Amino acid sequence: MSETFRAILVSRDEQKKQSVDVVVMAPDDLMDGDVDVAVEATTVNYKDGLAITGKAPVVRRWPLIPGIDLAGTVIRSTHADWKTGDKVVLNGWGVGETHYGAYAGRARLNGDWLVPLPERFSPKDAMAIGTAGYTAMLCVLALEKAGIGPDRGPVIVTGASGGVGSVATAILSKLGWHVIASTGRPDEAGWLTDLGAAEIIDRAELSEPGKPLAKERWAAGVDAVGSHTLANVLAATSYGGAVACCGLAQGMDLPASVAPFILRGVSLFGIDSVMAPKPRRLEAWRRLAQDLEPEKLRSIATEITFDGILDAARDIVDGKIRGRVVVDMT
Ligand code: NDP
Repeated sequence: MSETFRAILVSRDEQKKQSVDVVVMAPDDLMDGDVDVAVEATTVNYKDGLAITGKAPVVRRWPLIPGIDLAGTVIRSTHADWKTGDKVVLNGWGVGETHYGAYAGRARLNGDWLVPLPERFSPKDAMAIGTAGYTAMLCVLALEKAGIGPDRGPVIVTGASGGVGSVATAILSKLGWHVIASTGRPDEAGWLTDLGAAEIIDRAELSEPGKPLAKERWAAGVDAVGSHTLANVLAATSYGGAVACCGLAQGMDLPASVAPFILRGVSLFGIDSVMAPKPRRLEAWRRLAQDLEPEKLRSIATEITFDGILDAARDIVDGKIRGRVVVDMT
């Protein structure tokens, strides 16, 4: 049987002009690692869209196979924790940024980066979650660690029809929160309500410069958007509340004041999924298996194949993707 496989490769010429090609590779072409995984499913995150379109400097090694998430089966291992046949998940650790990533039939990885695929999930389920969903769970865990629960009042989720936002909406509603979903897509209101949103607000309410302090509207927030949106979310967070911030879909800036922090004791938690230590990853995946209902997961995901990755990458950067994209690589 031929061991060659297709891969997406992003390259840069001497003028630093980026190009993207579908190439055929062999195992010897891969970078170093002690575990080889047959990639059965992957996904397209916002960051993957940025890597493929070159709209932000995600790629930091040229050429590179992008793709920050994968799920599949171990086919070679010299790592003590993994043996042939194990089902695994990979999120982040610089894969798809500095190390060859998921958009290939085979990935060679450091075994320390892998977590076991939870029994409840197929590889495609795990990719319906992907980094976006696992980050949503890291946000939920941060709020819980601060002792803030649904008894304190509503939670706002920004970028609600995106990957992080849709999974956060589903999880938080399952946990009993009154979820206020902020979206720029009013036509998705029905879908967001089915996911568990109790209220929908127009993201325009939050995306323009606002006051340092506003009427208290929610006890907690999960923010995937940044910029004025995050500033306004903080300004309307009630006394002693907290916001978990993970994204920059509106912008990387944070034009806020210290007023919510020093007058209302509001906390802001920064969430990074890429280098999150393994125990936190295992906890997040354990909780995803517990708190994310399979039918919600199915309604969040749209399935494509390898050939659809490049279009999906462009669409996610243009804000045209609803929920999560799953790539069937089998
Ligand atoms: P998506 O593109 O799926 O979702 C982002 C959502 O943000 C969109 O669906 C849209 O929601 C909203 N949005 C887009 N543009 C704007 C804008 N100009 N102003 C306000 N809202 C906007 O991306 P993901 O959910 O995968 O990722 C969300 C963010 O989180 C990204 O910035 C990503 O880089 C970051 N991220 C960070 C991680 C970390 O480790 N910290 C991990 C994963 C993601 P709607 O249409 O509903 O308004």
